[in-house]
Amino acid sequence: MASAVHIIGAGLAGMAAAASLRNKGFAGEIFLYEAANHIGGRCYSFVSPVLGVKIDNGNHMMLKANHNLLTFLEIINSSAKKELYPYFPSIKYFSFNIKGLWRLGVVSVLNTEYNKADKILYLKTILKSLRNPYPLFAANTLEDVFAKPFQTFANAQKIKIEYGKKCIGYEEGKLIFAASETEISAEDKVIWALPQQSLARIFNLPILPHNPISNIHFLLSPKERPFAFVGKINGAAEWFKIKGNILSATISAANNPDIFAIKEEAKEIFNLNNDDFIANSVICEKRATMSQDKETLIKRNRILKSLPNNIIIAGDWTQENLPCTMEAAITSGFKAAQEVL
Ligand SMILES: Cc1cc2nc3c(=O)[nH]c(=O)nc-3n(C[C@H](O)[C@H](O)[C@H](O)COP(=O)(O)OP(=O)(O)OC[C@H]3O[C@@H](n4cnc5c(N)ncnc54)[C@H](O)[C@@H]3O)c2cc1C
Repeated sequence: MASAVHIIGAGLAGMAAAASLRNKGFAGEIFLYEAANHIGGRCYSFVSPVLGVKIDNGNHMMLKANHNLLTFLEIINSSAKKELYPYFPSIKYFSFNIKGLWRLGVVSVLNTEYNKADKILYLKTILKSLRNPYPLFAANTLEDVFAKPFQTFANAQKIKIEYGKKCIGYEEGKLIFAASETEISAEDKVIWALPQQSLARIFNLPILPHNPISNIHFLLSPKERPFAFVGKINGAAEWFKIKGNILSATISAANNPDIFAIKEEAKEIFNLNNDDFIANSVICEKRATMSQDKETLIKRNRILKSLPNNIIIAGDWTQENLPCTMEAAITSGFKAAQEVL
């Protein structure tokens, strides 16, 4: 068995790998190296300088059918489940059509332009989700659901997290970071829990196309408003969420959201008027997920097959039967831990 495990990348995949190793009894050292100054990767919360409140970078919908995600929360802190808020979304339509509903699902689940998206992958995802399609949201912030309980777990379990450690290369017995190097012994294992483009740079692989996700967060006037999550068929945004005084609209696979049109739709959906809107902030994650079109998925499969057997990888993009989601990231982390063990 490995004496130490070095995990590169502290997004959900890396965190899940570390948690699973400890949960399965791995007693050796575990190091998590993270390029950024926070854990959580693409799933994070921050204080918006414009809105003056802590918000999540995206709506991040989970499902009760996300078995590995819920297992991960149990491992890091069983009470974390309480941070999840179950809510069944309503769908708003101004001219209902089944095709519009199908399109809404395809684009938002695969984060890929409708005409290109791999509908078979979407269908497989829907069939899997039918087991328990109840959606879950962070009751407060994503940080409260994932990063904070994991940090506590890591402290208790002596998992060492090192921030600002951008890995730029790998040689036999050595991990090369932007400003330092770490020697690793022959018995040590490395888990590469990186986004596709980061792994590609280190191992000289092709970089696959990715798509953006944009979110507009509106600060609303302080008023008691019930939580709501609404999908809009043929809308300027796909999803609208109200939590407290923040209304967030999600636009999948798009860069330049039409703020005016989205605000007008939000007013109509939630019966708001101009005075309710105080400020807004647009966050565009340029490389939110890998493009999930047939051609890219075939290229991804080729890359996975081309990797030497001794390289252990994780990350949302590595799961052939799941779309690039939190469940895929956590599943990949669990599998990587299993490979180590
Ligand atoms: C706006 C937005 C909305 C989303 N909405 C949903 C949703 O509703 N439901 C859902 O299930 N999923 C959603 N997702 C997708 C989900 O967030 C991702 O699938 C998941 O977080 C990916 O986790 P990961 O660990 O695979 O990768 P990442 O989160 O990217 O983690 C990789 C980590 O590696 C670090 N890193 C990168 N390069 C290096 C390097 N060279 N050296 C060291 N560290 C490095 C990064 O900083 C990062 O922390 C959304 C994503 C975004 C961006």
